[in-house]
Amino acid sequence: MLETISKHEGTPVSVGIKTQYDMAVEQFQRAADIMKLDPNIQEILRKPRRILTVNFPVRMDDGRILLYQGFRSQHNNALGPYKGGIRYHPNVTIDEVMALSMWMTWKCAVAGIPFGGGKGGVTVNPKSLSKTELERLSRTFFSMISEIVGPFRDIPAPDVYTDGQTMAWFMDEYSKREHLNPFAVVTGKPLIVGGSLGRDSATGRGVSISVEEAARHLKMNLKNSTCAIQGWGNCGSWAHKFIEETGAKIVAVSDSKGGAYRQSGLKYNEVNDFKQKTGSVLNLPGTQAVTNEELLEMDVDILIPAALEDVITADNAKKIRAKLVAEGANGPTAPEADDILFRNKVTVVPDILANSGGVSTSYLEWVQNLQHLYWSAEEVDHRLKTIMVNAFAEVWKTTQKHNVDMRTGAYIYAIGKVTDAMKIRGWV
Ligand code: GLU
Repeated sequence: MLETISKHEGTPVSVGIKTQYDMAVEQFQRAADIMKLDPNIQEILRKPRRILTVNFPVRMDDGRILLYQGFRSQHNNALGPYKGGIRYHPNVTIDEVMALSMWMTWKCAVAGIPFGGGKGGVTVNPKSLSKTELERLSRTFFSMISEIVGPFRDIPAPDVYTDGQTMAWFMDEYSKREHLNPFAVVTGKPLIVGGSLGRDSATGRGVSISVEEAARHLKMNLKNSTCAIQGWGNCGSWAHKFIEETGAKIVAVSDSKGGAYRQSGLKYNEVNDFKQKTGSVLNLPGTQAVTNEELLEMDVDILIPAALEDVITADNAKKIRAKLVAEGANGPTAPEADDILFRNKVTVVPDILANSGGVSTSYLEWVQNLQHLYWSAEEVDHRLKTIMVNAFAEVWKTTQKHNVDMRTGAYIYAIGKVTDAMKIRGWV
């Protein structure tokens, strides 16, 4: 018997509230207005070029067959093949994936890497599936989107609740179909099947580089400055490690279960050991428990939202006390909150710059796959640093020129590049 997944996990419906896609369009519109962007180009850039929805059955270990839904949104490929992750989450909607694909277009343009923007997702709670069920779901989903992906078409990567193992299944499924071994069809793969050194830690490393660059431009001394990190997953944990190396003191961290605060600081190794043992940062010995909401409003110099979307809103933005916010997550700040933070002179390094270390290292992985020649960790890190320092400098310059917040500056810079490519290709 075929059962639909909505019976098991429910599909969220939003009535009358702003979706992520509305938020992405609003951010775009702010920059487009300042640029006085041609209305025809605006029309094209507001919507993804192609969105594929797939509905596919997956056999569960107990014999039941469940129907799942997934998406791949391809926003724009003027600068190169579509690029962006695939997420597994019960709240994935077509709207969210559309927004995330648009953000990838800007992110790749800001980073100066030759890719456009794409994103995919499956509406599923991966924690409720066994490893074999996850494998069957991953292989079937990827085979269903295979006609629109490829090393020179669209190159997926990990995102929320997908990882190197998921990428290995994707790549293997694609290789069966194409009778080739096309490592470059996905990035974020394990090392043994064409992954790159440094890819795992890249998003967190990039966040740390953007904090350092922001501090340099703001003439802020990182030594002994304090920092709070919301979300201790792949991005937040590595950001902790690298930011600690700059001399800053991480005083609060959190995950989905809650947070831990200690005035004298939390060392990366200590938090890592505890999280490995207990599965959470909550109740780390010698710390005070804080909620995820409280963590955002703490009296720290630097705040890293590296968990979910839409956590800094019109309601709490005025309570943010950090001077510098670097967005590890995609879309953590609502447009209304951006206005409040800008008025309060809080510098926000936007997601499309701050977390671009992940996709930039994906680019380095793709290049290594295509040339069949692999670099040392030092080489990869050095190249990543160059990409991020340049991207930061360009965004900073645009921001100063237009006297806007850094998100709008990054958008103006990115939209300008994508528009130039569209024009020269003869699209407009
Ligand atoms: N999912 C990551 C992002 O949102 C990485 C994408 C990629 O490497 O293609 O930037």
